[in-house]
Amino acid sequence: DKLRESKVYVRALFDYVPQEDKATPCQEAGLPFKRGDILQVVSQDDPTWWQAKRVGDSNLRAGLIPSKQFQERRLAYRIKMGTLPNPKSPKKPIYDQGCDKEDCDCEGYFNGQYIAGLRRSFRLSRKDRQNSSGEANASNLGEQEFLTYEEVTRYQHRPHERPRLVVLIGSLGARINELKQKVIAENPHRYAVAVPHTTRPKKSHEKEGVEYHFVTKQAFDADAQNNKFIEYGEYKENLYGTSIEAIRSVQAKNKMCLVDVQPEALKTLRTAEFKPYVIFVRPRIPESRRRRSTATSPGGGEHGRITEEDLQEMRQSAQQIDQQYGHLVDRVLMKEDTVSACTELRAILERLERESFWVPISWVK
Ligand code: 5GP
Repeated sequence: DKLRESKVYVRALFDYVPQEDKATPCQEAGLPFKRGDILQVVSQDDPTWWQAKRVGDSNLRAGLIPSKQFQERRLAYRIKMGTLPNPKSPKKPIYDQGCDKEDCDCEGYFNGQYIAGLRRSFRLSRKDRQNSSGEANASNLGEQEFLTYEEVTRYQHRPHERPRLVVLIGSLGARINELKQKVIAENPHRYAVAVPHTTRPKKSHEKEGVEYHFVTKQAFDADAQNNKFIEYGEYKENLYGTSIEAIRSVQAKNKMCLVDVQPEALKTLRTAEFKPYVIFVRPRIPESRRRRSTATSPGGGEHGRITEEDLQEMRQSAQQIDQQYGHLVDRVLMKEDTVSACTELRAILERLERESFWVPISWVK
């Protein structure tokens, strides 16, 4: 019997509640699961209903789950009937990617562009955003058009192999750049950033290839055209971007490379070469940092506190990333303060080198 046991493992990319599934031949026999669960598919004999167990469950009996083909077919049908939003026209994303300064929301990504004054421009553009929210945008789901299952296998990093890439994505207010910098500064011989390119002039204390690769606008544009960057943006009329080569060069030194990117970059980075481990940092604002009323004048009595409006925007941003990219996330890190978030990140990185993790099977074949 053991010999006949299936070796097919999949990561569920959707939540499944058999009790809500009208199509199932038997609700009691259904196996409930959540997005991110690893399922061992015990039988694919039936084209519509597979039998599976949840990895980690002590339950020995397998349950019914919709097969990949069946789930795809009904998702396609729901999109056609308009009961499910078309994944090809997602809402415009709102991101905040780390500001270096403590307690400041002065810069970040917005609609895929790196800009200063994120919070302010975010507010100003709220109306525009509403107007264009239904507008078709580039597909952000990677190759995966229908979120059903992804075949996975156990992977353990070995010392002679290139370290896995660690990708931090964050919702509004997560300040992942700061987090990344702190963890690297504590352990610079093990972790490193990819040195970005910039078109701004070199400052006297800076060294080529250390803080940045300083390049001309022409060279930068050419690299961008040739898809050399995982992301780039403009800041104060200069261009900044991180190249794929810069990541490779960190890994060639056998260091773990940490990047903080807009989630779109996951499309480029999710390859067998990089084997990215994706951490989604979500800020959690403790009660003590919440402002009691939005009526308080800015900069007034409760300095540094966060208004209900801010909280709302942060929640919305986190939800949006969760909806669009949650299936690509290996780990969610709730960030209440920088110190505890750093401790947690450090622990994750250490485990990454020691333990085995589920990765898409295509990465190890
Ligand atoms: P500075 O010119 O003061 O070194 O950096 C200006 C800004 O550019 C910083 O706020 C920094 O976060 C941003 N920046 C640095 N590297 C990159 C990068 O690789 N990509 C993007 N989009 N922005 C960057």
